Amino acid sequence: MPGTSLKDESISMAVCDREAAQPVPAEIPTSDFRPPAAVSRVGIMGGTFDPIHFGHLVTAEAARWEFALAKVVFVPSGRPPHKKDYPVTDAEHRYQMAVAATASNPAFEVSKVEIDREGYSYTIDTVLAFRRFYGPEVQLFFITGADAILEILTWKDVGRLLNECHFIAATRPGFQLNRLQETHPMLPVEGRHRIHLIEVPALAISSTDIRWRVQHKKPIKYLLPEAVEDYIHCQGLYRPHSRGVYGKG
Ligand code: ATP
Ligand code: MG
Repeated sequence: MPGTSLKDESISMAVCDREAAQPVPAEIPTSDFRPPAAVSRVGIMGGTFDPIHFGHLVTAEAARWEFALAKVVFVPSGRPPHKKDYPVTDAEHRYQMAVAATASNPAFEVSKVEIDREGYSYTIDTVLAFRRFYGPEVQLFFITGADAILEILTWKDVGRLLNECHFIAATRPGFQLNRLQETHPMLPVEGRHRIHLIEVPALAISSTDIRWRVQHKKPIKYLLPEAVEDYIHCQGLYRPHSRGVYGKG
């Protein structure tokens, strides 16, 4: 298994199988991310979602199942600092697409917390907003692709972030786990055990590719929910020269 060596370095590897999600008998020592059942856990799935696609949804569902999360809240970014040099579709469109994509899953919600915030969106601010809202008892799990976690973990607030929430990093096609291992020595010792890796079905879907496909009149069917596809076509998103779409850059 690709992540086995990371386990020795105190980053846990959870594989999405049914067995792993069963209740653990009391006599078996559990790892720290399996707390008493009374403690509720909430997943936070951050992203630009320009547009949201099945890669995001599969990852969120895998994390929800594997870590027994009560819900996963999708948080479309306002002005992502790492994408400030790129055009990003207006936040309201991205929000509406996320709502449409998640409507059929009662455990999924969409939050406007980053969209409503002025200025750039930083993960620490979002996590603190969730902490204030849900209180100190709830365990927060920030879900990302394993590529995105590398960026997050090299930020200056990493100690504070790991203090407030766990991270679930989903492996993504093309991502090499040893890159995370290289970042690992830079992480605060006391927070390392709060980073968990999960394997999700290998979906080589990206929003960049979907935008490119729309622009070049190629099909996007089966890459994202039908409701999102309809929204893209009805609103004329991602077409060449579509004006007023890239509201935040
Ligand atoms: P873009 O191509 O515009 O960067 P994206 O497809 O990477 O878009 P984002 O909104 O940037 O989507 O990603 C949100 C989160 O979802 C990130 O943590 C990212 O790593 C993760 N993610 C994106 N695509 C996938 C996928 N196919 N499988 C698993 N995780 C994914
Ligand atoms: Mg991305």
